[in-house]
Amino acid sequence: MKKGKQYDFIFAGAGAASLQIVEQLAESAHFAASSILILEQDNQKSNDRTWCFWEEKSNSKWDAYINKEWGQIAFYSPDLSLKRDLSPLAYKMMRSASFYASMKKRIAQKSNITLKYEEVISYKEQETGVTVATTKNNYTTALFFNSIFDWEIIRQQKRYPVLQQHFVGWFIKTERSCFDANTATFMDFDIAQKGNTRFMYILPLSAKEALVEYTLFSGEKLNPAAYERELRAYLSKKNIRDYTIEETEKGNIPMTCYPFAKHNSKRVLHIGSAGGWTKPSTGFTFTFIQRKSAKLADFLKSNTDMRQFEKRNRFWWYDLLFLDVLARHNHKGSFLFARMFSRNKPAAIFRFLDEKSTLKEELQIMKSFPLGIFVRQVFRRLFTAFH
Ligand SMILES: Cc1cc2nc3c(=O)[nH]c(=O)nc-3n(C[C@H](O)[C@H](O)[C@H](O)COP(=O)(O)OP(=O)(O)OC[C@H]3O[C@@H](n4cnc5c(N)ncnc54)[C@H](O)[C@@H]3O)c2cc1C
Repeated sequence: MKKGKQYDFIFAGAGAASLQIVEQLAESAHFAASSILILEQDNQKSNDRTWCFWEEKSNSKWDAYINKEWGQIAFYSPDLSLKRDLSPLAYKMMRSASFYASMKKRIAQKSNITLKYEEVISYKEQETGVTVATTKNNYTTALFFNSIFDWEIIRQQKRYPVLQQHFVGWFIKTERSCFDANTATFMDFDIAQKGNTRFMYILPLSAKEALVEYTLFSGEKLNPAAYERELRAYLSKKNIRDYTIEETEKGNIPMTCYPFAKHNSKRVLHIGSAGGWTKPSTGFTFTFIQRKSAKLADFLKSNTDMRQFEKRNRFWWYDLLFLDVLARHNHKGSFLFARMFSRNKPAAIFRFLDEKSTLKEELQIMKSFPLGIFVRQVFRRLFTAFH
């Protein structure tokens, strides 16, 4: 094993979190002399993710990467059919390949930042630094940022429920016009729930092209054929029969309030999904990574103790309660989301999910839900906390 160079910052993984943080560091004169190493196991990463998020319609730092944006969203359940304007927001789609390519180009222009394709196998923290072992080398660093997600950590515990947002999506092309290109279907619960929270998510790129995703918020994944069967049945129900599948996207996003930050230490910070930056109740992560990246770059200017970075807020408690209920009553997702969408404007819901709402707005959203089931869950949580 070769002993590599000493760095100021090492990042494990070159995904959304590491690249966004490194971009922030690269933009700041403060870090111009900092040596940064990114270690990524996969040198073939391209369109492995379709990131969607909402934000103001224009003047976004992501404008150059956006493939499509929608001013309207639709929500469906057996008893509800809603189309709502998102103004002043838009729902936006970005494919990961252009993001990776652009970030890598910028890294290549910076002499203080290096990207190496090596698999990280372990790290060890000492008083003076962290030693990071890959399959080829050992490196040392003052601070280590780890974006490698470990499902085992959350599966080994029982205190916090763990749901998965798992999905298979098809990018399809149809013979005739089938989609309303101005409207993203955020959730269509008008499908068999089979004891879970199951919905279709449809992002039309044009009248004849869309990403159609069969999505579950549930404890266990399905076998691969089951997702495909449901996709076929749904398209057929919508009278969409002549189509070609251009690409497939699969994913599995953790939904849990497990306190990932407890694994942070003086010199090690877990980032991205591995750091708990995924919103537990929705799986949305991209916007939180953006926000945390900016905060971290600022934090690093004056602070080197990584234990000080994360602060728990009240939204963590809301997510915990919601996930407790959803894990216990997994079949109620359709009903709960329908209540939320029928009684609140999407912009208010998105502000709440973005953790930017006021207490008054949060109470308004909470009033949408049936009280009993949540109160019972609060007591259950309190009871387990004291036993
Ligand atoms: C298919 C998919 C679609 C998603 N869509 C959305 C969305 O629409 N909106 C949203 O907000 N969120 C979405 N997410 C959730 C979240 O935004 C992404 O998972 C995001 O990529 C998380 O960023 P990350 O840096 O934490 O992890 P990743 O982007 O997964 O980065 C981790 C990196 O570590 C590398 N790695 C792993 N092990 C090692 C190792 N041992 N050594 C070296 N490198 C290693 C991986 O190859 C990867 O490049 C989606 C997730 C998936 C999987």
